[in-house]
Amino acid sequence: MELQASVQNPHKPSQRTLSSPVLLEERKMIELDNVWKSYNTTDVLKGLNLTANKRDFISIRGKSGVGKSTLLRIIGLLESPSKGDVKLFGKQVNGLNDEQKSDLRLHSIGFIFQFFNLIPSLTVLENIELPLALAGVRKIERKKRAMELLNHFDLPSLANRFPTTLSGGEKQRTAIIRALTNNPKIILADEPTSSLDDENSHLLMELFNQINRERNATVILTTTDLYEKLPTNQNYILKEGHLQRANMPQQRTQ
Ligand code: ADP
Repeated sequence: MELQASVQNPHKPSQRTLSSPVLLEERKMIELDNVWKSYNTTDVLKGLNLTANKRDFISIRGKSGVGKSTLLRIIGLLESPSKGDVKLFGKQVNGLNDEQKSDLRLHSIGFIFQFFNLIPSLTVLENIELPLALAGVRKIERKKRAMELLNHFDLPSLANRFPTTLSGGEKQRTAIIRALTNNPKIILADEPTSSLDDENSHLLMELFNQINRERNATVILTTTDLYEKLPTNQNYILKEGHLQRANMPQQRTQ
């Protein structure tokens, strides 16, 4: 299905679509302008701004309850802002209908949740195949692509295991690989290290770093740990509904 953006950019030909490879190559991947989110009478996000470019690896830190998941859900089109503009790949998404949003999500955004969200009755390989199945890829082809991903990340031995037999770190690595199957250009990870020990957290960050570099993907991850050293190139703290730049040690060399 082709998606038309709700507001056309006058500088672009009108037939361009949100899922077009041409747009995916554009540098600005995510733009939030004066985004508000209120639940009942509580304002969680209060006029928040954020720009993420291609290949940015961004951390958003903040205490529990400050709105980190809300922010990722808005970027990941799982929720709409109460006010403000959201652009992905240079195009407004506010006016897209549910079907257009799921299509964009399926093809362009990989979501990694805190508690893995793996399906217990499916093997690791079948879990990884799932987004490809939803995208209509044939069984033989999706098995091949899922196995290639497991091989690429040195985890082929997990293919036929069920999630209940995996360690926390293995589950989270499986969830990350599953989020990569449709080759998304934006990867959103909601507190991915919160249930892992230090060693597995480190392995996971290495994996995000690899993905960020190899795939030119924009990665945004949240954490409640204000002091965790991360291989990110932009760091923010979410506080009182706004993002503040954080002066964290930058480990990655560009
Ligand atoms: P964090 O991810 O930083 O822990 P959340 O984004 O989950 O924070 O939540 C921020 C605030 O918004 C919390 O006070 C939470 O209770 C509230 N909240 C989140 N989702 C909803 C919802 N669907 N309905 C009502 N309140 C919500």
